[in-house]
Amino acid sequence: MTLGGPTEEEIRNVIMPLMLSGAKMLDRHCPKCGSPLFEKDGRVFCPVCEYRAKKRKKEMRGVEERLMEKLNELANSLPDDPGELEKHLRVMGKIMELLERYKKLEGGE
Ligand SMILES: [Zn+2]
Repeated sequence: MTLGGPTEEEIRNVIMPLMLSGAKMLDRHCPKCGSPLFEKDGRVFCPVCEYRAKKRKKEMRGVEERLMEKLNELANSLPDDPGELEKHLRVMGKIMELLERYKKLEGGE
Protein backbone atom coordinates (compact mmCIF):
# COMPACT_ATOMS: atom_id res chain seq x y z
CA MET A 1 0.00 0.00 0.00
CA THR A 2 1.41 3.41 -0.92
CA LEU A 3 0.87 6.40 1.30
CA GLY A 4 -1.14 9.20 -0.19
CA GLY A 5 0.07 12.76 -0.44
CA PRO A 6 -0.46 15.19 2.39
CA THR A 7 -4.05 15.50 3.54
CA GLU A 8 -5.75 18.82 4.13
CA GLU A 9 -5.22 18.36 7.85
CA GLU A 10 -1.51 17.80 7.32
CA ILE A 11 -1.21 20.82 5.07
CA ARG A 12 -2.91 22.93 7.71
CA ASN A 13 -1.13 21.52 10.75
CA VAL A 14 2.28 20.69 9.36
CA ILE A 15 3.17 22.39 6.11
CA MET A 16 1.61 25.81 6.71
CA PRO A 17 3.18 26.38 10.13
CA LEU A 18 6.50 25.21 8.75
CA MET A 19 6.38 27.72 5.92
CA LEU A 20 5.47 30.45 8.38
CA SER A 21 8.35 29.43 10.61
CA GLY A 22 10.83 30.25 7.86
CA ALA A 23 11.70 26.77 6.67
CA LYS A 24 12.59 26.62 3.01
CA MET A 25 10.37 24.61 0.71
CA LEU A 26 12.51 22.75 -1.81
CA ASP A 27 11.47 21.84 -5.32
CA ARG A 28 12.05 18.21 -4.49
CA HIS A 29 9.39 15.86 -3.27
CA CYS A 30 9.36 13.09 -0.73
CA PRO A 31 9.56 9.73 -2.56
CA LYS A 32 7.40 8.19 0.14
CA CYS A 33 4.44 10.52 0.40
CA GLY A 34 4.83 13.11 -2.35
CA SER A 35 4.95 16.08 -0.02
CA PRO A 36 7.43 18.83 -0.84
CA LEU A 37 10.65 18.49 1.15
CA PHE A 38 11.75 21.28 3.44
CA GLU A 39 15.06 22.57 4.63
CA LYS A 40 15.66 24.11 8.00
CA ASP A 41 18.92 24.63 9.88
CA GLY A 42 20.73 22.74 7.16
CA ARG A 43 18.54 19.68 7.51
CA VAL A 44 16.41 18.39 4.62
CA PHE A 45 13.35 16.51 5.74
CA CYS A 46 9.81 15.53 4.89
CA PRO A 47 7.51 17.15 7.44
CA VAL A 48 4.57 14.94 6.54
CA CYS A 49 6.42 11.67 7.09
CA GLU A 50 7.82 12.97 10.37
CA TYR A 51 4.37 14.04 11.47
CA ARG A 52 2.89 10.68 10.55
CA ALA A 53 5.63 8.77 12.36
CA LYS A 54 5.09 10.87 15.47
CA LYS A 55 1.35 10.41 15.32
CA ARG A 56 1.73 6.67 14.92
CA LYS A 57 4.07 6.52 17.88
CA LYS A 58 1.59 8.39 20.00
CA GLU A 59 -1.19 6.03 19.01
CA MET A 60 0.96 3.02 19.76
CA ARG A 61 1.88 4.43 23.13
CA GLY A 62 -1.83 4.63 23.91
CA VAL A 63 -2.25 0.95 23.09
CA GLU A 64 0.80 0.09 25.15
CA GLU A 65 -0.55 1.96 28.13
CA ARG A 66 -3.87 0.16 27.99
CA LEU A 67 -2.13 -3.20 27.71
CA MET A 68 0.03 -2.38 30.72
CA GLU A 69 -3.05 -1.41 32.69
CA LYS A 70 -4.72 -4.68 31.84
CA LEU A 71 -1.59 -6.57 32.76
CA ASN A 72 -1.50 -4.90 36.16
CA GLU A 73 -5.16 -5.59 36.65
CA LEU A 74 -4.64 -9.28 35.89
CA ALA A 75 -1.56 -9.49 38.09
CA ASN A 76 -3.51 -8.01 40.97
CA SER A 77 -6.35 -10.47 40.70
CA LEU A 78 -4.76 -13.86 40.30
CA PRO A 79 -7.27 -16.62 41.08
CA ASP A 80 -6.50 -19.47 43.48
CA ASP A 81 -8.04 -22.14 41.32
CA PRO A 82 -5.19 -23.71 39.30
CA GLY A 83 -7.26 -23.98 36.12
CA GLU A 84 -8.34 -20.37 36.31
CA LEU A 85 -4.83 -19.33 37.21
CA GLU A 86 -3.49 -21.02 34.14
CA LYS A 87 -5.95 -19.17 31.92
CA HIS A 88 -5.03 -15.95 33.62
CA LEU A 89 -1.33 -16.48 33.11
CA ARG A 90 -1.83 -17.43 29.50
CA VAL A 91 -3.59 -14.12 28.85
CA MET A 92 -0.84 -12.27 30.69
CA GLY A 93 1.74 -14.02 28.53
CA LYS A 94 -0.09 -12.92 25.39
CA ILE A 95 -0.20 -9.34 26.58
CA MET A 96 3.51 -9.40 27.34
CA GLU A 97 4.20 -10.78 23.87
CA LEU A 98 2.22 -7.95 22.36
CA LEU A 99 4.06 -5.40 24.43
CA GLU A 100 7.36 -6.81 23.23
CA ARG A 101 6.22 -6.54 19.66
CA TYR A 102 5.11 -2.95 20.15
CA LYS A 103 8.44 -2.06 21.67
CA LYS A 104 10.21 -3.47 18.65
CA LEU A 105 7.96 -1.50 16.30
CA GLU A 106 8.64 1.67 18.19
CA GLY A 107 12.37 1.16 18.23
CA GLY A 108 12.67 0.50 14.51
CA GLU A 109 12.50 3.48 12.23
ZN1 LIG B 1 7.09 12.11 3.12
